[in-house]
Amino acid sequence: MNDEFSRLLLEWYKINARSLPWRGHPDPYAVWVSEIMLQQTRVETVLPYFQRWMLLFPSISALAAANEQEVLKAWEGLGYYSRARSLHKAAQLMAERYGGSLPSDPTLLLKLPGIGPYTAAAIASIAFGLDEAVVDGNVKRVLARVLDYRAPVNTPAAEKELRTIARSLLPEGKAGDYNQALMDLGATVCTPRSPACSRCPVTSLCAAFQDHLQEQLPVVSEKPAIPHYRVTAAILRRGGRVLIAHRPDNGLLGGMWEFPGGKLEPGETDAAALVRELQEELGITVTVGEQLGTYRHVYTHFRVTLHAYYTSADGQEPQALEASELRWVSLDELEDFPMGKIDRMISRDLLAKG
Ligand code: SF4
Repeated sequence: MNDEFSRLLLEWYKINARSLPWRGHPDPYAVWVSEIMLQQTRVETVLPYFQRWMLLFPSISALAAANEQEVLKAWEGLGYYSRARSLHKAAQLMAERYGGSLPSDPTLLLKLPGIGPYTAAAIASIAFGLDEAVVDGNVKRVLARVLDYRAPVNTPAAEKELRTIARSLLPEGKAGDYNQALMDLGATVCTPRSPACSRCPVTSLCAAFQDHLQEQLPVVSEKPAIPHYRVTAAILRRGGRVLIAHRPDNGLLGGMWEFPGGKLEPGETDAAALVRELQEELGITVTVGEQLGTYRHVYTHFRVTLHAYYTSADGQEPQALEASELRWVSLDELEDFPMGKIDRMISRDLLAKG
């Protein structure tokens, strides 16, 4: 099975590999950037970001020399902003320690910010040809179907077991193509729903195909429903400028800019939440006025509905009690500051309303 599986897979990959800009790229830097961007994000979403990123920061040294705001701005809209900050920090460490190059040793890669076992194995195999197996959601699905693997695949134990299996199937010296072939097969043929078995190169070896179990595998243990938060934000104005706050580096949307506000507590109205939040965050007591709009966004682990209100502070001076910095900026300047999805929607509404 081992040799036959990888042989069929690699033959199929020679003809059917997806054409992606980081493939066949001589620079391991491009492989690293693409792997970080692809974490939790679809290939189609990543493509324009990757192209723009490589123009803005064509090398590890260029990325290391950029400032964090430029890096976050280039990442704006991709989500999981800690990935961008980690890329930036890792580039600075590589500039210091490795002369601006990626180390090929997975144990050294693992010591860099933002690089876990999956990414280290992907970089080591794809960029440096080392025999490391990669297991992502696509690979898990293909292996579970081919091998009739019945345990839930979304557990750390299954992840470990499937990595060992993937490693045992790996053809020596061809790990880069083998890993990418498995990922491509999962993404384009062995899809979650209605896999295209008639186009699959490994039907002769696939237990799920033979037993008509494609739709039952892989088994996934149920995830709890994600919570929904109601949030408010304040538009504070001063002479044609609005107030934005810089979030601290750690945590969700770290390093991004936002309109001040926060989550409602149980039983609170929007206005009461806004008064409390601005007292806590800015040390001011505000009057809440007309509503600017309602904004919705789904993050991986929760959903948010945000109501934004024009708010006045009667000449009180806001202080950065929780933010790392506050700025009064004109509506035209808002676009220069990196923001998450909802704050960008608010800033564009403000600009449209003038
Ligand atoms: Fe997936 Fe069907 Fe191929 Fe099996 S035969 S690996 S179920 S596409």
